[in-house]
Amino acid sequence: MRDPVLARRTMVEEQLVSRGIKDQRVLSAFLEVPRHKFVEEYLKYKAYDDYPLSIGYGQTISQPYMVALMTEALAPSPQDKILEIGTGSGYQAAILSRLCSTVYSIERVSTLASRARKTLDELGYFNIHTRIGDGTFGLPQDAPYDGIIVTAGAPHVPEALIGQLKEDGRLVIPVGDQSIQDLKRIIRTKDGIREESLGGCRFVRLIGKNGWQE
Ligand code: SAM
Repeated sequence: MRDPVLARRTMVEEQLVSRGIKDQRVLSAFLEVPRHKFVEEYLKYKAYDDYPLSIGYGQTISQPYMVALMTEALAPSPQDKILEIGTGSGYQAAILSRLCSTVYSIERVSTLASRARKTLDELGYFNIHTRIGDGTFGLPQDAPYDGIIVTAGAPHVPEALIGQLKEDGRLVIPVGDQSIQDLKRIIRTKDGIREESLGGCRFVRLIGKNGWQE
């Protein structure tokens, strides 16, 4: 495997900055978090490449650019409490943990959740609370959140998630059919809901009571 520090610098310049990611805090988090620790041994040499990688169970660690785009759209501040739905490898949670005060992350596949927990503990990212369950209900016991990020494609926006946002809270979520989705940012303002489209994307399915049926 290439020198990981160099590989991260190249990834940030060639995949993120060149495509318009500007937030310096976000770029610093990508320089810091060792993405190769979040993939299996046989894929480590590809960890900094420009595409998603398998993490088993039919799931993926998302393309670095997509993680950066969603993180920038979520705009986490140092004092924020953020909820992620779809822990997967734990990489997105690790990036968020560098940018806000507390991260809650929920995953439905228990083996992935425990593997991610182990990685995050080994790296000392202790401001991340991992949970196992159906994230289409959000995580009401720790709500409200400054931001919610859904890292799987939903057929529609689960109503519960909007209800768990603080005022001015942001929800970033891919919504669409099973092959292509629109990345949406939804902001809960004091006057109601504001919705923007951030472009097309392709995610594995959000499976659950308020998502796709298994
Ligand atoms: N954020 C992850 C990372 O950094 O590696 C990548 C997430 S992967 C693209 C999508 C994840 O969402 C999968 O691990 C999948 O099991 C999980 N997922 C799908 N439906 C879910 C649900 N209802 N609740 C929680 N997790 C779910």
